[in-house]
Amino acid sequence: MPTPLSCDLAIVGGGLAGGLIALALAKRRPGLDIRLIDAGDAIGGNHLWSFFVSDIAEPDRWILAPLISYGWTRYDIAFPAHRRTLDSIYYSIESERLDTVVRAALPAKAVMTGRKVVELTPTSVLLADGTQIAADGVIDARGPGNLSRLDLGWQKFLGRELSLADPHDDPRPMVMDATVSQIDGYRFVYCLPFAATRMFVEDTYYSDTPTLDHAAIGDRIDSYVVARGWQVERVLREESGVLPVAMGGDFEGYWGSSGLGIAKAGMRAGLFHPTTGYSLPDAVRTAALIVRATDLSGPALHTLTHGFARTTWQDRGFYRMLDKMLFRAADPEERYRVLERFYRLDPQLVRRFYAGRSTMMDKARILTGKPPVPVGRALRAIGLLPTSPMEQTS
Ligand SMILES: Cc1cc2nc3c(=O)[nH]c(=O)nc-3n(C[C@H](O)[C@H](O)[C@H](O)COP(=O)(O)OP(=O)(O)OC[C@H]3O[C@@H](n4cnc5c(N)ncnc54)[C@H](O)[C@@H]3O)c2cc1C
Repeated sequence: MPTPLSCDLAIVGGGLAGGLIALALAKRRPGLDIRLIDAGDAIGGNHLWSFFVSDIAEPDRWILAPLISYGWTRYDIAFPAHRRTLDSIYYSIESERLDTVVRAALPAKAVMTGRKVVELTPTSVLLADGTQIAADGVIDARGPGNLSRLDLGWQKFLGRELSLADPHDDPRPMVMDATVSQIDGYRFVYCLPFAATRMFVEDTYYSDTPTLDHAAIGDRIDSYVVARGWQVERVLREESGVLPVAMGGDFEGYWGSSGLGIAKAGMRAGLFHPTTGYSLPDAVRTAALIVRATDLSGPALHTLTHGFARTTWQDRGFYRMLDKMLFRAADPEERYRVLERFYRLDPQLVRRFYAGRSTMMDKARILTGKPPVPVGRALRAIGLLPTSPMEQTS
């Protein structure tokens, strides 16, 4: 039997969460011998990750600083009865850049791409090619685990980076254009102006189902682009995603479903914003936590990451309740009204919402005023009134 490779820390899954942990450790604890293992050929796969600077605590921003591809200082939203420009620094990261920066920061032997992991324990990893790795600690960052343990709606999308024949005149990101026809739940188009003749356009749905009809959504992107007066020269890149929007569920069941006692990060740890499905801010927090940890043994890492993920899950009950209202109290074609009302609120409140750091006052403010959904259905959706016989049979 071949001798196992040995290292201090094995990170399984070189996506966003695993890549950020490896990068942060390479910068702040270069003496550690780590392995970042991914089944794909590139760290980060094929993604564009965006975030508001206010999503990331100031002391943690150094982790993302070398990764930023694009940035803007303001963004727009548009609804049938409300348009607004908000001040907020917004950044995008391309996965190609994550791959380049991670490879530059780590010794070549540390980045093991094109290597599928078939088994892992808190201190060992087995690869499909038979290679064994013995590590003081192992972190599972393989993306979503068994999502059937959670009560979910879906945020699904198809995005295309377009090369345009002529310069557009949109200087700011359009984070939500919900003036489009409402189909399959709450629908909006998201546009990022990368350069004078380059535009990223994503068609997004807050839907009851995870099925993504690429052809139909592609046609809708084409129609949107035509309506905006943009002429497409070439599609440079395409990405799609189906992200969980959490209304509830069994956090411990989810955690345990992919191995008890094993440290986890990213989606695998259940670390995502319940309403946006986004995981980048939590991935940064996790990387910062691990960099500061004195004990990187398997059991200590498990205690650390499990505690962080559980507390984060517990603190986010408010967002799951809102998601229930959005999905269960509003008719699908009326869901946009919930967001339209939300975007009339104080920009600081909006920022804290995206960062997952809403205050008690924010929560009260979000819930007060004329509700955009029927009150009875809202109370039933969150379990404060019994379900009516009509709803039970529907
Ligand atoms: C297209 C898209 C765009 C998104 N945009 C944003 C955004 O703008 N902002 C945001 O915050 N969130 C965004 N998200 C949501 C979320 O942040 C991302 O999905 C993020 O990549 C999740 O990070 P992760 O590290 O948990 O998983 P991933 O990034 O998916 O990484 C998991 C990695 O594990 C590897 N892996 C899986 N199984 C194995 C195995 N057996 N052996 C070895 N390797 C394995 C995979 O190859 C993959 O690289 C987006 C998601 C998608 C799909």
